[in-house]
Amino acid sequence: DTGKGPVLYLEDVSVSFDGFKALNKLNLYIDEGELRCIIGPNGAGKTTMMDVITGKTRPDSGEVWFGQLINLLELDEHQIAQGGIGRKFQKPTVFEQLSVYDNLELAMASDKRAWKNLFFKISGEQRDRIAEILELIRLSGHRERLAGSLSHGQKQWLEIGMLLMQDPRVLLVDEPVAGMTGEETERTAELLVSLAGRHSVIVVEHDMAFVRSIARKVTVLHQGSVLAEGTMDQIQQDPKVIEVYLGE
Ligand code: ADP
Repeated sequence: DTGKGPVLYLEDVSVSFDGFKALNKLNLYIDEGELRCIIGPNGAGKTTMMDVITGKTRPDSGEVWFGQLINLLELDEHQIAQGGIGRKFQKPTVFEQLSVYDNLELAMASDKRAWKNLFFKISGEQRDRIAEILELIRLSGHRERLAGSLSHGQKQWLEIGMLLMQDPRVLLVDEPVAGMTGEETERTAELLVSLAGRHSVIVVEHDMAFVRSIARKVTVLHQGSVLAEGTMDQIQQDPKVIEVYLGE
């Protein structure tokens, strides 16, 4: 509990595909500035949950609120992205032929100008923010390198940096450490922990050691709803959770 109130609020959200309930009355409350991990076996509904939050999938029933006042079901995918919910997919999608710095600069402009005019001017303040983010994602020493020449882990960090340029209130991150080395995994843990507070961060991840290293609160999804919620210690002792994971 960050004491700042909810930033995201899903109530009784259900989604069916051909009669199959991918989400079944899902309830989820995320506090402002919180770092939350979502785990659950394959097919539990984790991706569908992220699709609902980002407006990619419309629920059949239920409510989705952003802050206290914004009904996300009234906004489309684009408005939700512009309105402060960033999503990091598993595969990094950086511009390989551009430098690290140019990737960040482009991300700052988002679709407001960059696609129409690659030569727009950024302010000193924006340049300071890019420097800050380069530091955060540990790429200050690589700013002129082509993004295509970075390691897998560095590309993931760059993409997180690109999302940060929009200063999202909520950041959804899908399996951030898949394919990373041990050292990259540790650095990613530090990065995500450092983002919480300023942003609310929701991480979907299979790597339990990683989840343990970053999360204060973990939500276990199963068959489209919340099976358990608590600290990693609480969850690992929960008989319902043990049964689901042993039965996998
Ligand atoms: P997870 O990300 O936890 O593995 P998903 O949200 O991807 O779970 O999927 C939940 C269930 O919904 C799965 O059984 C999946 O097969 C089904 N599902 C997801 N998306 C679709 C879709 N577009 N059409 C039909 N079934 C889907």
